[in-house]
Amino acid sequence: MTTPTTSLHAEIATLLGEGAVVPPGAAMARFIDEPRRRFHTAAQAVALPSSVEQVQALVRWAAAKRIPLIPQGGNTGLVGGQVPLSGQEVIVSLERLNRIRSIDAATGHMTAEAGVILEKAHEAAEAEGAIFPLWIASQGSARIGGVLASNAGGVQVLAYGNARELCLGVEAVTADGRLYAGLNTLRKDNTGYDLKDLLIGSEGTLAILTAATLKLFPRPAAYETAVVNVAGPEQALALFYRMKAAAGARLTAFELMPRFGIDMLLRHGMMSSDATASMSPWYVLLEFSYGEADRQGVLAEALEPAFEAGLTDDAVLAGSLAQRQQLWAMREQMSEVQSREGASIKHDVCVDIADVPQLIAEGMEAAERAVPGIRPCPFGHLGDGNIHFNFSQPIGADPKAFMAGADAVHDAVYEVVLRLGGSVSAEHGIGQLKTKVLEEVKDPVALDMMRAIKQALDPHRILNPGKVLA
Ligand SMILES: Cc1cc2nc3c(=O)[nH]c(=O)nc-3n(C[C@H](O)[C@H](O)[C@H](O)COP(=O)(O)OP(=O)(O)OC[C@H]3O[C@@H](n4cnc5c(N)ncnc54)[C@H](O)[C@@H]3O)c2cc1C
Repeated sequence: MTTPTTSLHAEIATLLGEGAVVPPGAAMARFIDEPRRRFHTAAQAVALPSSVEQVQALVRWAAAKRIPLIPQGGNTGLVGGQVPLSGQEVIVSLERLNRIRSIDAATGHMTAEAGVILEKAHEAAEAEGAIFPLWIASQGSARIGGVLASNAGGVQVLAYGNARELCLGVEAVTADGRLYAGLNTLRKDNTGYDLKDLLIGSEGTLAILTAATLKLFPRPAAYETAVVNVAGPEQALALFYRMKAAAGARLTAFELMPRFGIDMLLRHGMMSSDATASMSPWYVLLEFSYGEADRQGVLAEALEPAFEAGLTDDAVLAGSLAQRQQLWAMREQMSEVQSREGASIKHDVCVDIADVPQLIAEGMEAAERAVPGIRPCPFGHLGDGNIHFNFSQPIGADPKAFMAGADAVHDAVYEVVLRLGGSVSAEHGIGQLKTKVLEEVKDPVALDMMRAIKQALDPHRILNPGKVLA
């Protein structure tokens, strides 16, 4: 890469206008400081296009000069896909493409530009009496383009599916600067390969998303939320089967939490008082959502036989909106609180739902063998088979020494995951964090097909090179 930095900035400014380019330095920090604090390379520049045409112009310029581009939304990704790898890249922030182009709650879709913040999309849907049911703890910063490019999941995948299932069509700029105008509102469209599904989850390596048509659903008339004591993941799974049988599609969340996580929240002042019913080694947060014509009160009724069967001995049911929020806050802060407890080693894994108890039991044993005294904090989306299998450092351990041994813990956990036929990345993606493990564990034929697709759509490796595929 021979382009001098100063002329590079001038060229971007010519394309996008003054004030649309950020050089290395303090102003670049918010684009390169990522949540995991693992990657620290600066970009050559951040470019801030404010129209689809400007994105196209930028891509054409970068393609001609072979300058790598990193599409970026809210910079909340957890695998380093949105930040530089080589330092030669220009980050393309989509934050100025932030219009909601149209919304039709009755038909059930909204077209939002890539830079719309997820929470703003929620608010726009709710103003029309609808919901866009993709809830993640980073929704105040994550943007629609990033959410789709990483095929985000969250706490209601159980009922509504992940980002891919919540999208009807996308508009995207290809690696040669052309526009793929795929903003479908069609519920059925079997006209060849599904390019929408290909671009969703491609982590900025195949095209730059500029807008998407998202599915909307009627806003539930009421929620019932409970945190239920369970002895362990086995009992949690049995409870899940019962709740699903009782509530069907009205069961919209089923999240596992260990007592260790609750203790940390109390210890670090992130929860002023214990919101659980009583002491228990594990808890499940579950929620039923009701339409206007539904009979409510089903959650309490459904729990009765679970008590009788000995699956639980105590539970707290939210009696108000404030209490519902308090119960959800426990779950939502479970990841963040670990950073207050010292260093932590994290995994975002998925197995068949029926195998979650085995995953947790064997994963905890294997990690303890690798690092005696390690403190497991597995939590998350039991209803999807997706566990955030995290571990805090042993009490008194040196954080740096603990992290230096992370590979042994990864190997221990992934061995169990792979033996159970699971995935090493359930909802966070590959980015630059997991390219090596992907090479090791992904089916070689699948890897060849992925490389062929990348070669076909981005032959000059302009789009996020080194991410997903090393
Ligand atoms: C506290 C916290 C909680 C989280 N909880 C969850 C969770 O429950 N479930 C979950 O799935 N994730 C979760 N995440 C991860 C992350 O927030 C999501 O993956 C989110 O969808 C990323 O959106 P973003 O706009 O920040 O994307 P970014 O971080 O900016 O980018 C993510 C990836 O998408 C690419 N990209 C961004 N915009 C575009 C575009 N317009 N076109 C093409 N590619 C693009 C980037 O190159 C990168 O590879 C969480 C993160 C945090 C910090």
